[in-house]
Amino acid sequence: MDISVVVPLYNEAESLPELEAWIRRVMEENNFTYEILFINDGSTDESWKVIEKLSESNPNVKGVSFRRNYGKSPALNTGFQRTRGNVVITMDADLQDSPDEIPELYRMITEEGYDLVSGYKKKRYDPLSKTIPTKLFNATARKVSGIKNLHDFNCGLKAYRSAVVKHIEVYGDMHRYIPYLAKNAGFGKIGEKVVQHRARKYGKTKFGLDRFVNGYLDLLTLWFTGKFGAKPMHFFGLMGSLMFFLGFIAVIAVGAIKLYNMYHGNHYILVTDSPYFYISLVLMILGSQLFLAGFVGELVVRNSPGRNQYEIEQELNIKQPIN
Ligand code: UDP
Ligand code: MG
Repeated sequence: MDISVVVPLYNEAESLPELEAWIRRVMEENNFTYEILFINDGSTDESWKVIEKLSESNPNVKGVSFRRNYGKSPALNTGFQRTRGNVVITMDADLQDSPDEIPELYRMITEEGYDLVSGYKKKRYDPLSKTIPTKLFNATARKVSGIKNLHDFNCGLKAYRSAVVKHIEVYGDMHRYIPYLAKNAGFGKIGEKVVQHRARKYGKTKFGLDRFVNGYLDLLTLWFTGKFGAKPMHFFGLMGSLMFFLGFIAVIAVGAIKLYNMYHGNHYILVTDSPYFYISLVLMILGSQLFLAGFVGELVVRNSPGRNQYEIEQELNIKQPIN
């Protein structure tokens, strides 16, 4: 099968027939073999009924329906596990992404060898309250992830080589950073294509401004787990040791100065009267806490089932030992 189209949706009943007809037209015009996977994320409207209906006239329409609303990431992940096409396309259900982009995205994956191609809504039809923070969001994401050529991380329209979606796990709200997840999994050839964007025709947006707060926190999580996830001690241990060491030196200095002055008959103050004593104490306490956090982190890693799973691309002349 050439293409799997994954469409997460939450209360988008009005858009679905138009979307299905449009995708079908594009696929037939280009002679692609395809499937459309509608992932109904616990819609409370008629969405699932509409999908059932569509599947009666088009056997390429497939669907999964969640019992309740989990979010876009869980919907995408569920779709990814079930794809069978060589190229996987994701798109939003609200008709903001155009299926006309599919052939070119497909070509970029199959002929230019990209692992992932992200859409770039250069000209957006969204309110200003969304476009301005989005610019900031993308600049930060570029910096932190090191994927310097992407302008639109969270574009719903993306294309993947099949292996990519089978090797990444999208959970929580991490759909905003799929290119970063792919990069962390070793799929580094990431490209971009300027795509048409249209105003939402039916229904309303499912994400408010909290998307930017959550997006920022998720980015920190990804950065941290990507860098120190398998070795937390390298972060906490270093910070903790440095702080403790500083505090320790300082507290010795405070004591030594007092003893020196005492010995030479100078005026001296009690250790507890010096503000530096308390600063040192705080440093030492915080330092040991950080160190402990690192140590607990290492114990957690030691027991995590994924600690020794790596993305292996190829093996040569390896035979399993006979026991
Ligand atoms: N979506 C979903 N589950 C949710 C929220 C959204 O499956 O909990 C779907 C939604 O139906 C749409 C896509 O994710 O197909 C993008 O959502 P939306 O258009 O509201 O986001 P925006 O375009 O405003 O970023
Ligand atoms: Mg939308």
